[in-house]
Amino acid sequence: MDFALTKEQDELRQAVLSFAQEQLNEGLEHDDEAAVFPAAKWKACADFGLLGLPIAPEYGGQGASLLTTIIVMEALGKGCLDNGLVFSMNAQLWSCEMPIMRYGSEMQKREWLTKLVSGEAIAAHAISEPGAGSDVFSLKSRAERVSGGYVLNGAKTFSTNAPVADLAVAFAYLRQPEHNDRRVLTAFLVPRSSPGATFGKPFSKMGLRTSPMGEVSFDDCFVPESMRLGPEGAGARIFNTAMEWERACIFAAHIGAMDRLLGNCIQYSRSRRQFEHPIAKYESIANRMVEMKVSIEAGRFLIYYVGWLHGQGKGTVMESAIAKLFVSEAHKQATLDAVQIFGGYGYMKGNPPERELRDALSGTLYSGTSEMQRKIIARCLGL
Ligand SMILES: Cc1cc2nc3c(=O)[nH]c(=O)nc-3n(C[C@H](O)[C@H](O)[C@H](O)COP(=O)(O)OP(=O)(O)OC[C@H]3O[C@@H](n4cnc5c(N)ncnc54)[C@H](O)[C@@H]3O)c2cc1C
Repeated sequence: MDFALTKEQDELRQAVLSFAQEQLNEGLEHDDEAAVFPAAKWKACADFGLLGLPIAPEYGGQGASLLTTIIVMEALGKGCLDNGLVFSMNAQLWSCEMPIMRYGSEMQKREWLTKLVSGEAIAAHAISEPGAGSDVFSLKSRAERVSGGYVLNGAKTFSTNAPVADLAVAFAYLRQPEHNDRRVLTAFLVPRSSPGATFGKPFSKMGLRTSPMGEVSFDDCFVPESMRLGPEGAGARIFNTAMEWERACIFAAHIGAMDRLLGNCIQYSRSRRQFEHPIAKYESIANRMVEMKVSIEAGRFLIYYVGWLHGQGKGTVMESAIAKLFVSEAHKQATLDAVQIFGGYGYMKGNPPERELRDALSGTLYSGTSEMQRKIIARCLGL
């Protein structure tokens, strides 16, 4: 196992860091306050190639390995102060683009994947429902076969990007009359323009405010057979694979964000003087930054390890869950520590810890809560 960066990986990392610092940070305070989706920055990221990193070149991507993509996402997470933008991009990449890349037909890749990579179209992953969150496979959405395709009915919630999306990757149980009416989870690509599909208005969220989230509902919505993603009944496999990618890769950006936050804390604690000394000199303050550093280094290796395992063609169910659980909880703790280090100033808008804390709290919820990651790990241990 060798995690030394190649020359190309290091150059790409540096290029992404500079791009993010120079082009993605202006106007964030306003966008966060007003919950504005930064469409121009999204397009700039697409033009830079970030939305196609792990996608094959024939569909406009870079064909990068998972490990290279992880390294780039860490740099993006560090350079881009807008955690919402980084999250929205990652949500599209791992739970929409990659499933289309792996399970989609040639037509779906030419028609949709290329547009998602180029920034011409935006996608939302729609599986959660009001009554099906952690227990996601209890979802109620239904698909019925009809001539030429399917009719979908159901309501999805918490769908990242939905208010601005052109396409939903949606999941519903399909009734198979030839198998005693058994219901099999199936994935569909549903364009916003489909009659009977409604992509809702943005929810008002505590954090990640530049990442729009909303409902997607289907009311006798016809989906042609050509827009079914993968075979009938492949929905659980498609969802589980997407979550495996997402749990490692979105959280690479959290490592970058923690690293940036540590830099903010070091700088502030060295300059802030109380009792005639910089507060960094007080052990109880310094130790909070020591713990952050330990978490960043440990978390980075957990995530790189998942990337490496993928490169070896190995499964990562438990390793992805471990990485997600560790990094999301460590990030939450790091932002709480940052507020404490900044004192009253950390509680004020306009200083980094306040927004970073609001954003980081979501990490222990999405892609499966911490409790669900512990359940996965316990299952893998045979418990
Ligand atoms: C920022 C953000 C982005 C999201 N993006 C998307 C998206 O793009 N698409 C999408 O489909 N969904 C998305 N979600 C939804 C997300 O997947 C769910 O919020 C998550 O799965 C939890 O479901 P829930 O909110 O209904 O909580 P619940 O499942 O109701 O859980 C509430 C609490 O109970 C705990 N709990 C539940 N069951 C058990 C159990 N068996 N044992 C122990 N504890 C348990 C949970 O861990 C949690 O602490 C997003 C959520 C957030 C916050």
